[in-house]
Amino acid sequence: MATLKMPCQKVILCGEYGVGKSSLFRRFATDSFVSASDRKSTLGLDQYEKTYSVGPDERQTKLQLWDTGGLERVASVTSSYFKFAEAAILVFAMDSVDSFNVLSQHLLEIVSHAEHAKIYVCGNKIDLKHDSVVSDADIQMFCEQCHNVVTGTFKTSCKTGEGVHEMFTEIARQVAVSSRSRKELERLDDRAFKVEAPQADDEPCSC
Ligand code: GDP
Repeated sequence: MATLKMPCQKVILCGEYGVGKSSLFRRFATDSFVSASDRKSTLGLDQYEKTYSVGPDERQTKLQLWDTGGLERVASVTSSYFKFAEAAILVFAMDSVDSFNVLSQHLLEIVSHAEHAKIYVCGNKIDLKHDSVVSDADIQMFCEQCHNVVTGTFKTSCKTGEGVHEMFTEIARQVAVSSRSRKELERLDDRAFKVEAPQADDEPCSC
C-alpha cells in the first residue's frame, strides 16, 4: 500500500544576535536552556525537524526549524537561508529596544527572499519583566505599520519555557492549513488549464 509522505514545513528564525534565536532552537529541539556561562559559541546553520499533530483530524505535519547559528554576527545570512521558508519568526528581546527597532530591516529581508512565508513576531525573554522596555502597544503599532504582513505575535521565555511550545504548535497548525489550501488551489489551477480551449465558432466575447 502506498504511504502518504508527511509534509515538512521550513521555518526560519530571524533577528539580532543575542535575542535568543539559538535558545528557541534548543527549546524546540531538546526542551532545554543553557545560560550565558554554559553556552558554547556555535557558528553555521542548524536545522531540526519535529512532528506535530494539527487540526481536528490530528493530521501529522513536520516543522523543520532553521537557526542562523550566530552567523549574523560575522557575515550576512545568505538567501538560501530564506528560500522555500513557509514561516519566519522575527525574534526580539523584550529587554532590548534596539533589537525591536531593527525588526523592520529583518522583515524586509524576509519579504524579499521568502515570498510565501507567513511572518510572526516573537518577543523573547519575558521572564525579565522588570527590564522589559517594549510594550504591547509598540508591538501592535509595528504590525500596523508593516501593513499587516505579520500573521501573529507571541511572547516567550526560553529560560522558563513559557509560551515556546504554544508558539511552535500554533505556527505548525497555521502553516499546515495554508500549505494545504495552496496545494488545493494549485490542483484547481492545473485542472483549469486542462479544460479544452473554446471552438472557433463559439460566441465571441462581448467585452
Ligand atoms: P541568539 O544570538 O539570537 O541565537 O541568542 P542566544 O540564544 O544565543 O541567547 C543570547 C543570550 O540570551 C544567552 O546568554 C541566553 O542564555 C540568553 N537568553 C536567551 N533566551 C532567554 C530568555 O528567554 N530569558 C533570559 N533571561 N535569557 C535568555
